[in-house]
Amino acid sequence: MDKITTRRNFIKSAGLLTAAAAIINPMEIFAQRRGGATAAGTGSKKIELKWISFDAKMKHVFTVAGSSRTHTPIVLTEISWDGYTGYGEASMPPYLGETQASVIEFLKKLDLSRFRSPFEIQDILTYVDSVAINNTAAKAAVDIALHDLVGKILGQPWWKIWGFNPDTTPNTSFTIGLDKEDVVRQKTIEAAPYNVLKAKLGVNDSTDRMMINTIRSVTDKIIYIDANQGWRDKYYALDMIHWLKEKGVTMIEQPMPKLWLDESAWLTERSPLPIIADEACQRLTDIPKLKGACHGINIKLMKCTGLREAREMVSLAKSLKMRLMIGCMTETSCAISAASHIAPETEWADLDGNLLISNDIFEGMKIVNGKITLNEKPGIGVIKL
Ligand code: MG
Repeated sequence: MDKITTRRNFIKSAGLLTAAAAIINPMEIFAQRRGGATAAGTGSKKIELKWISFDAKMKHVFTVAGSSRTHTPIVLTEISWDGYTGYGEASMPPYLGETQASVIEFLKKLDLSRFRSPFEIQDILTYVDSVAINNTAAKAAVDIALHDLVGKILGQPWWKIWGFNPDTTPNTSFTIGLDKEDVVRQKTIEAAPYNVLKAKLGVNDSTDRMMINTIRSVTDKIIYIDANQGWRDKYYALDMIHWLKEKGVTMIEQPMPKLWLDESAWLTERSPLPIIADEACQRLTDIPKLKGACHGINIKLMKCTGLREAREMVSLAKSLKMRLMIGCMTETSCAISAASHIAPETEWADLDGNLLISNDIFEGMKIVNGKITLNEKPGIGVIKL
């Protein structure tokens, strides 16, 4: 009796044949690797879009200036063609205006079967963007799944298709939300695997200083600040930035309200630390007016409709000599891994959204010794768990 037969008999006697057969059947493994039940290259040549709602559970109650939450609503997408399947995601933190219902309503309006193949990325995504204004997370859910699909068909990851150097990815910061002193201390201790922390400030002066002093009582790691538009006086903001610089802070995100471009330009001229626009910079068309009003921009797929536009934002910002950060919402490893393909071109990264949830259903880009580490898997580089 050969080894396989022996193994089968063992499995059969153990009553495990049905389950084990699915694992050891090579065709099944092939189909799973390609992300679908049909073998790649033998499926329908009609582009099909599917979606399902998903609630990401937060490990800690997450508080930023203006809101707190225990869950983040998400819609997961799949685009299939010719036996291949690409995965995508829309994440909707409540303060941004999109909901699972609005995303699904948007996706229902789309007819991707009108396109001959997923390689028509430009035409497909121009069409998706034209169906309705806003809905940027819903559009990103299509964009990410389409990029994953096309990368899988090509058999290459997007960082490689774009010609980016995987060695130049930055460390990711790990976000410490606004909280009570003992919780901030505990979160800082839990952030031990990460080299950089990002503190959410912008509530009031005493809370902001408590946040920094508490983090500093635990660690001397580099800190980035995200004030989420919370500082309402440019003189106060400048004083605060000087104090923060002494505390080892190296970057300030969205210190003042997003429409205060003149005040932001005043602050940018004087600030000893780089000022990065987040809420003020949603899409490609926002970049030219921010030149001079900040040192750089924070690109997020959920704001900018996905990878196609994120890639364009990288080029435009660089041509304007603006500095770059890649960020995220609370997302599963699907959208986080997609965003990581942009990271080789950015100076800063805050791709920790998947680390803040307890029910991630994808495995993708890994943080190794604090650094964003791209993998060789095709598409956006994820496996569905
Ligand atoms: Mg921000």
